[in-house]
Amino acid sequence: MTKREIIECLRGRGKACLAPTDDLFAAADAARKKYCGDEVHIRGVIEFSNYCRRDCLYCGLRRSNAKLKRYRMSPDEIVRVAAGAGSVPTVVLQSGEDEHYTIRDLDRIITRIKKQTGAAITLSIGERPALEYKALRQAGADRYLLKFETSDKELFKRLKPDSSYEERMRCLEDLRKTGYQVGSGTMVGLPGQSDGILAGDILLMKKLDLDMIGIGPFIPHPDTPLKNMGVGVRHAVHLRDKGLRVIALARIVTRNAHIPATTALGTIDPNGRQKGLRCGANVIMPNLTPQKYRKLYAIYPDKICINENFSDCRGCVERLIRSLGRTIATGRGNSLKSL
Ligand code: SF4
Repeated sequence: MTKREIIECLRGRGKACLAPTDDLFAAADAARKKYCGDEVHIRGVIEFSNYCRRDCLYCGLRRSNAKLKRYRMSPDEIVRVAAGAGSVPTVVLQSGEDEHYTIRDLDRIITRIKKQTGAAITLSIGERPALEYKALRQAGADRYLLKFETSDKELFKRLKPDSSYEERMRCLEDLRKTGYQVGSGTMVGLPGQSDGILAGDILLMKKLDLDMIGIGPFIPHPDTPLKNMGVGVRHAVHLRDKGLRVIALARIVTRNAHIPATTALGTIDPNGRQKGLRCGANVIMPNLTPQKYRKLYAIYPDKICINENFSDCRGCVERLIRSLGRTIATGRGNSLKSL
């Protein structure tokens, strides 16, 4: 699809647009079935630290948010939680950009989890030097998630004042060269984001040939500078619909990337994850984080599932998958790119 065609689809009009919405979603669902099958992959997420050295304007973990109580899980605790998750085929280790954990610490955590569970390991711990990516890959990490957040350099600079777009791209390139399965993606509904920028995001996903794509709605956090940007029911409905369109278009354009129906989508709409799975998504990510930390991993407010434990979350996502007539994947859910 061309940029113009993607923009028309985002707006729900135009000849190339597969409009109305139902047709776009049906086309995305058919593409998902053709390129990824009916299996839904379960990835268990451990949010092991909410410390962050960065100051992104949209994020509740930003270092300037003095109201947030910070926590770090110890290496033993991280390994214990991962090992206690039973047969989850992928463990995602996620944190703010926290330099407290050395490469040696992370190496040991990865090695122990792999030995005890055999699960694939995805890291989502931010920007690091190429040598560190290499060391973590050698320790056994299989995948790495690093969202570019927006493909627009100006918007990136405004929202992430202490990061650089070029450095972000350098990291994604290093991850690819190091042999990771690479995930990246965008936020939908950011202040200053046009449909043209979103179309650029979708084309960048294609250009980067991503193995995994994360697409989440921007939900303003009350303790950030963007707290007044887009609140209320009308905004939530608009955001949900736009987010679903971006998922559908990402599926059509990138074909076989793994795309999760995110928890954030479930936060702005109680049926958001089901809707995501019906318009292109094929992954769901229940939370493995111990309950006492969940509400503190507050990238955005009012996150769902903060009062549940992992077995509640796992049972819930399994019922959700079956209710859609889909099957729960039993394999590790590696990249489909080589198929
Ligand atoms: S978006 Fe990531 S890097 Fe930015 S403040 Fe939040 S956790 Fe830190």
